[in-house]
Amino acid sequence: MIPQIASTLLTVPETYRSPMPVTAVRCYPNCPQLFTYPLCPRCGLIIEREYQCFCVHCGQALDWKQFCKAIVTPALYSSGVR
Ligand SMILES: [Zn+2]
Repeated sequence: MIPQIASTLLTVPETYRSPMPVTAVRCYPNCPQLFTYPLCPRCGLIIEREYQCFCVHCGQALDWKQFCKAIVTPALYSSGVR
């Protein structure tokens, strides 16, 4: 049940292994599907799949308990400025 990534996490600081709550999602208004992506609480990058155990970018363990209350923020760039 332990993912293979766990072996690489043995070398990262302890704080990466204690889950941080995911509290923000980013939306892309210009995207046809209106996708929203959760944001890593440590590095701020997009987490491509919801409810994955670790951030693929920085290895931070993730806590999804507060995800339903996450704050939605629009993407910084926008080509649709009126
Ligand atoms: Zn991260």
